[in-house]
This record gives sequence, structure tokens and C-alpha cells, in this order.
Amino acid sequence: KLRQGGIIYTQDVLDNQLENLSELLNEKNLTSVFFMPVFKKDKLIAIIVGLSKEINFINEKYIDILEQIKLDLNFALEKLENEATLKLVSEAIERSSEWFLITDEDGVILYVNDAVEKISGYSKEELIGKKTNIFRSYEQPIKFYKKLWETIKKGEDFAAIFVNRRKDGSLFYLNLLIHPVKLPSGKVYYIAIGRDITNEIHLTSEVEKYKFYDPLTELYNMYAFSLDVAEYLKHIKSKAFLILIDIYNMAYINNVFGISVGNYALKEVGKRILKEFDEEDIKGRIGGDEFGIFVSSQSREDFATIIDKINRIFDEPIKIQDKEIKIYFSAGVSSFPDDGKNFQTLYKKATIALSEAKKTGKNIIKFFNPSMEEKAKNVLEAEELIEKALREELFVFHYQPYFDTENISLKGFEALVRIQNKSGKIYYPNVFIDVLEKSKFIEDFERWALKKALQKIKEWDNKIYLSVNISGKSLHSRHIQEILKKEDKETLKKLTLEITERELIGNIDLTKEALSNLRNLGVRIAIDDFGTGYSSLSYLESLPLDVLKIDISFVRQMLEGKRKKAMVEVIISLAKKLDIKSLAEGVETKEQLETLKDMGCNFIQGYFLGKPMPESDADEFVKGKCEL
Ligand code: C2E
Ligand code: CA
Ligand code: CA
Repeated sequence: KLRQGGIIYTQDVLDNQLENLSELLNEKNLTSVFFMPVFKKDKLIAIIVGLSKEINFINEKYIDILEQIKLDLNFALEKLENEATLKLVSEAIERSSEWFLITDEDGVILYVNDAVEKISGYSKEELIGKKTNIFRSYEQPIKFYKKLWETIKKGEDFAAIFVNRRKDGSLFYLNLLIHPVKLPSGKVYYIAIGRDITNEIHLTSEVEKYKFYDPLTELYNMYAFSLDVAEYLKHIKSKAFLILIDIYNMAYINNVFGISVGNYALKEVGKRILKEFDEEDIKGRIGGDEFGIFVSSQSREDFATIIDKINRIFDEPIKIQDKEIKIYFSAGVSSFPDDGKNFQTLYKKATIALSEAKKTGKNIIKFFNPSMEEKAKNVLEAEELIEKALREELFVFHYQPYFDTENISLKGFEALVRIQNKSGKIYYPNVFIDVLEKSKFIEDFERWALKKALQKIKEWDNKIYLSVNISGKSLHSRHIQEILKKEDKETLKKLTLEITERELIGNIDLTKEALSNLRNLGVRIAIDDFGTGYSSLSYLESLPLDVLKIDISFVRQMLEGKRKKAMVEVIISLAKKLDIKSLAEGVETKEQLETLKDMGCNFIQGYFLGKPMPESDADEFVKGKCEL
């Protein structure tokens, strides 16, 4: 009975229930007795015994009280035990380096541990009683928080990376799990447990990925845009469009009016996009001068509506100070579900349409069509070709000579890349170079190209100039510097890096710095395809340049009329004044050569004097033509 929790008592110890205890108690004149079991967690751990000499001392009433005492005692013991555990746990939590925070149902903070203070920079006093949005950085879309609340309100865990703001305004990143707890009373609490991953994020330089807004326009950035569209596409039933808009004359605006005006223009375009498109359309600035809009619609007529909306954004020039600047655009559109069902496919196809639009002219909107895909297929093929070329070392240079105009003596070569497969088939850069320059392989390729060129210069006893074409993108990355730093001065003196004018325009200060850094290593810098990049002349003046290569199109048209000729003349004399050597590309006739010579152009390159030739031929050429 004791084991089952009952209290045993008797008013007469001679009651035979007590068996051999009876006599013992009787000897001492004890007549009433009770036995009360004590439990801890359902286990009998003690028996409390009560004895009295008074007869009938233990009656029914007394037992009721004992029952009560028994319950209290059990409860107290359990509580004592729990409290000990609780103390251990809370101590551990308090001292843990993990983020630990408890809120009530409305997100009001009830508890934070030391780590929260340390990570966030707020003290406990500043946090308790506040809502958790005190940490909000506004770098994550409203949708993110909506999703969070939806999930935990359902009683489910929510795990994500949170971009939060410290008291001092800086950002920190938490890998957080939010766990709802419902107490028996029905009250709900949320426990947030997590780790500060700010360092890891910075290390992996993926910071941008977790930031969601473009600070300039306050539209989504690419990451958030793609996430949101992808999310939307999961539930969508109607037709929808993905629009990409690119500013056609962005480089020109930056260049002529300055970066801050350029930024203002982007901001203004952002505002107009917000105005033209509906609230539920998803809008982002997804690249430097590229905007993305995702429009869902019920009917097909929206084709025309979309065209109207885009056009309206750019109708009015942008006013800044006393200037009015006309902004032109290119736009590419793909439609759901016809062109694709997921973000990647729609984006790819809209990009294809956009690049078609760019090629066609300004203010052009192109809707994707399958024939464009043909071209895109070429891109894929080019990518495959490039990968294979890197893997199997199929890149080779052909070398095109250029000459001193004065006496037609060999001055140097330009290294022009080709892919030559095992059976001897040659692929020219027109089928792969654009893709290569935009791909992740460009660095590997340029490492190869530079090493190859430097080695060639050495083979030619550091006596012949050699030019290598460098993508604009690489100007600001480190691999080129790294290779050049290891090279000896005599070899570097003969190396020229060619960068197209188109790629040089952009941020003038950065460009200037990058070019100076390279030039300080002892190489020469040439501006390639000059005349095609719409750069302003002031630009030319401020850049550290050694050679200016007049684009083939100018040379071609030079003899067609006085004005065309005047253009070339002006470029040559400008270069001379700025102490930059001029080189004419694509010289195909004797007439062109003579004319350029009269104009004082320093160097000549073109089929008339020499086509690009394979390495062995170039070696021969060097031996025969040059007094080594
Ligand atoms: P580019 O730098 O303007 O090179 C000159 C191009 O014009 C070469 O074409 C050359 O073969 C061609 N050319 C030279 N003289 C004449 C002529 O008298 N008449 C005509 N019609 N064409 C002439 P290629 O080799 O097909 O290269 C095309 C472009 O590919 C180059 O233009 C350059 O932008 C790019 N490229 C070539 N090699 C490399 C490289 O190693 N790296 C990078 N980033 N780009 C490269
Ligand atoms: Ca070139
Ligand atoms: Ca060129």
C-alpha cells in the first residue's frame, strides 16, 4: 500500500496489520501510528512515521491533512530537483557564446544571454522589453519576416541567416533557429538560438549575397530579386513577364557628367519604375545599370501595356541642376510560361532578348523568340569550346606584326588568340572571345596568355615588342599584377597591354589607378579600338597611356571623304600632343599606308604589311627581318 502511495495508520497498535511491530510499540505505550510514503519522481524514497501515546489521536481529519502534506512534500522535492537542473542549464545558457534570446508571443524580448549583449552591442537593460526588430537592418525583404512569422505562428521552427544591425550601426550575421514553445498554460514563447557568422560571411566575401537592397535605388538587388521571383513562380497561375532594362548611354552619362550625376540618373530611373509598375510587381536593380521587373498579369493584352510602361519611364529627360539629360534604354522580355518556368530560364532568355535589343539600337524592346536561342546556343558552344581549350591546352597565339611607319621596320607583334584543336582546326576569337571575357575562365586564360607572351619576349631576346589583349574586367583584379611582379624588368619593358576604349570608360579614378599600377611595373599600356567607345577627350588626357590604336573602322573610311580623313588626322595629332604614340589598325592598302605616313602616324598594323601568323612563322619573320 505504501508503494502505491497510500498512508497507513492505526489507532490501535495491536491491530494485527502491523505484525511484529505491534509488540515493540506496545512496550513503549505508543498506541496511534501512521506511515506516510515520500516520493520523488514516482519513486518511493522515504517513509515518514508518526507515533502518539494518545488513543484515537489519528482520525479521518488528521489523515486529510497528512494527504495534503504528502502532496506538498512530493511537489517540493521535485521542485528542488528541477531547480538544481534549471540553475545548471541557465548558467550554461548565460555563459554560452551562442546567441540566446526569448520573446513573448509579440516578439517582446524577455531574456537575452551574455552573448547577445556581446554580439549586438546592446546591454540587457536596453533590450529587455523591446521588440526584436531593434536588430533589424532593413537589408532583408519584408517577405522574409512575413515568412518567419507565418512559420513560427504555426508552431514550426524557422531557420535562416539573419542580417542584423548592431547598436553602432554595423551589420552582423546570425545563423538562427527560432523555436516556438507552448507552455501548459497555453502561453507561447519564442526561443532564438544561433551563432554569429559575421566573420565567416566576410571571409567568404558573400556579404553581398545576404544583403537584399540596392542602397542607391532602394530596389531589390539581384539576389533578392531572383529569390522573390523564384518564390512567386512556385504559386503563379497567370501569365507573367520578366523584363530586363539596361541603360543604353550609362557609360556616356558617367563619363560626360560624372559618376554622381550617373548615380542620380539611376536613382531617378528606379523611382520611375516604382511609379509605373504596380506594387505587387517585383522590382530590382540587378546590375550596375540593369533593372529587372517581374510582372504578372491575367491577359495577353499586357504585351502592349508593358511596352507603354517601359517607354514612359524614359520619355522625360532627367533634370539635374540646370541640365536635362536624355536617357536611352534597351529592354529584353521573356514570358512565363512560354519561354520558361523557372527564374534561371526566364532570366537567361530575357538576357538573350536584351542583348539583341542592345545590338539593334537605342530605346529598343525585344521580346524573346526562339531564333534568339540559336545565338544563345552559340554561347553555350563557345563555353564548351573554352573549357575544352583550357583543359587540353588548345589556346595558341598567332602573331601579327606592326611596323614603324617611317621606314617600315618591324616594331613588334600583337598576340592574337586562337583555339586550335588536335586535328588542326582553328577557331577565331570572334566565336569565343566575348564569351570568354565574361566567363569565369578569363583569369585562367589571361594567366596563360601573359606567361606565354612573356616567355615569347624572352625567346626573342627581349628585343621585340609584344602586345597582349587584356579584358577590361581584369584591369581591377589581381592576377595580372601577380604575374608581372615576378618578371624581370627587361622583359616587362617589351610588353604592351591592350585594353579597349570601351572597357576603359567607367570610373575614371579607378581606371587611372589600375593603369598606373600596371605601368609602374614597367609595361606599356595601349588603348585599343580607339574611336568606338564614346569616351570624352578629357578622359584621354588624364589616363596614363603609351599607345593609341586607331580603330579599323576609321582607317577603312579614311579615304572616303575629307571629313572622315580629318577625323583620323585629329586623332593622330591629339595623340602626339598628349605624348602618346599612335598606331593605325587594319591597314589593307598602300594608299592607306601612304596617307597615314603623311599624317605622322607612328605605327602601322594590317594585312597590307602582315597578317597574323602562327608562332613558327613569327619566329622565322623575326630572324629574317630583324637584325638580332
Ligand atoms: P583587335 O585587338 O582589334 O585585333 C585586331 C583584329 O583585327 C584581329 O582579329 C586581326 O586579325 C584583325 N586584323 C588585323 N589586321 C587586319 C586588316 O588589315 N584587315 C582586317 N579586316 N582585319 C585585320 P582577330 O585575331 O580575329 O581578333 C579579334 C579580336 O579578338 C581582337 O580585336 C581582340 O579584341 C580579341 N582578341 C584577340 N586575342 C585576344 C586575347 O588574347 N585576349 C583578349 N582579351 N582578346 C583578344
Ligand atoms: Ca588588340
Ligand atoms: Ca583593335
